[in-house]
Amino acid sequence: MSSPSEIDLVLKSGRVLDAASKTDAITTVAVAGGSIHSVGDEIEAPSSAEVVDLTGKWLMPGMIDTHVHVGGDLDGVINPGIGLRSVVQAGATTVFDLGGRAERLVAGIKSHGAGANVAGLGMLKPGVTLPDDDPSPKVVRETLDKALSSGLLGLKMWGGYYPFSMDVTADIIAACNERTAYAAFHIGTKSSGSRLDGMRELPAILGSSSRAHIAHINAYCRGSILPPGEEIAEALQILDSLRGQVVSEVHLARPNFTRGECDEDGNVRMDVARNCLRLRNYDTTRDGMRQAIADGYGSVVRQSPSGLSLVTGEAGVRLFDEGDTIVGMSFPVNRTDTAFQLTAAKREDGSFIVDAIASDAGVLPRNVNIEQAMNMVAFGGLTPLEMVEKLSFNPARMMGLERKGRVLAGMDADFTVIDPELGRAVMGIVAGELVMLDGRAVGSGGTLLVTDEGQAAARDYGSDYEVVDLSKALMYA
Ligand SMILES: [Zn+2]
Repeated sequence: MSSPSEIDLVLKSGRVLDAASKTDAITTVAVAGGSIHSVGDEIEAPSSAEVVDLTGKWLMPGMIDTHVHVGGDLDGVINPGIGLRSVVQAGATTVFDLGGRAERLVAGIKSHGAGANVAGLGMLKPGVTLPDDDPSPKVVRETLDKALSSGLLGLKMWGGYYPFSMDVTADIIAACNERTAYAAFHIGTKSSGSRLDGMRELPAILGSSSRAHIAHINAYCRGSILPPGEEIAEALQILDSLRGQVVSEVHLARPNFTRGECDEDGNVRMDVARNCLRLRNYDTTRDGMRQAIADGYGSVVRQSPSGLSLVTGEAGVRLFDEGDTIVGMSFPVNRTDTAFQLTAAKREDGSFIVDAIASDAGVLPRNVNIEQAMNMVAFGGLTPLEMVEKLSFNPARMMGLERKGRVLAGMDADFTVIDPELGRAVMGIVAGELVMLDGRAVGSGGTLLVTDEGQAAARDYGSDYEVVDLSKALMYA
């Protein structure tokens, strides 16, 4: 441990929340050289150390958002990295981009970075990152190789958009597992949807030994097959039966995000978008989509220099037509009760069935992890320590980040400070440096998290980087 004379930052009198040790106490945290030097009341810091008084505030290990979109790979329409400021403004200190390309991720960190740690997965998009939607085992492994050596941690399957057969899906996960790389799966195959029927295929896809991160469980419990309560119970039962093989998250936002794209015959292409229309009995056609927007149910995503916003009604229909259906769309289809139930669900031994709260946001205007988790704390659905477990400790374990997720001597000095009166994050600190204050991002750049294989690329990019050991990731541990 560094000596007390090296302490350069003192975070005084905050309510310190450390989920692993169940510490919930008003105390002081000292930082030296980017790491936590000590936690306790008896800290003797040199007079040169900066002292921040956190009286009345909560101090948690930095929020780790295991599902964001900051790579800006939405068909190149969005500026790379435009979401990085948004996630940091919302209190994140480490984020995991689920599905993009390293070059865009790095370009984003350079142009719009806000000082966060950033990891990413390679997006599997037939015709773009894969030759077609039926890749051979050899092509799958070459694609994984490319992702790892470009600085990404593994692969993400977008089953609700670009589904593969069950066999190919299983092979992609197996390929990641062979290399101890990260595999993430947005549920859905050619024989199922981004719904409970997709969840039902999971035991067969994973068999008894494959491992994967299952994205946004709430998105498969919207009531399109069974009443929502029954879908929640079945989804939880499936996840529990795969304990040790899967990690998972839910997001707590009401709006979803999808795409409006229609084919030459005027039929909506994307499974997710079709599900949204069916839920309210609209035709799954261009006209059905226009009507849903005109009625205020569907919104079109509009990009501005500062981020994205949602436009509905007549103005939304105009954007949809101007974009010739190639527009981002949003529907208020995520059920708050579903998200809250999935978040709170525990096994008999007291462990959470769904590991984490993640936003699936970034560039999308719904970075509400902390606000919504604080709502759950307010009505007793989570204790403050449980909230920290789901926002930082479990996410750190999911990604194998052994020096994060704790407020403990020797750990990285990444913190999120919450104002309990406001119910949101008011300060973000990464490696002892301030990256967010009162909702304003004040950092720049960022640290790319790579595997061993990605080090050479990270050096070429000229960006700061850190090597992650995925054998420590929860799905492999
Ligand atoms: Zn996503």
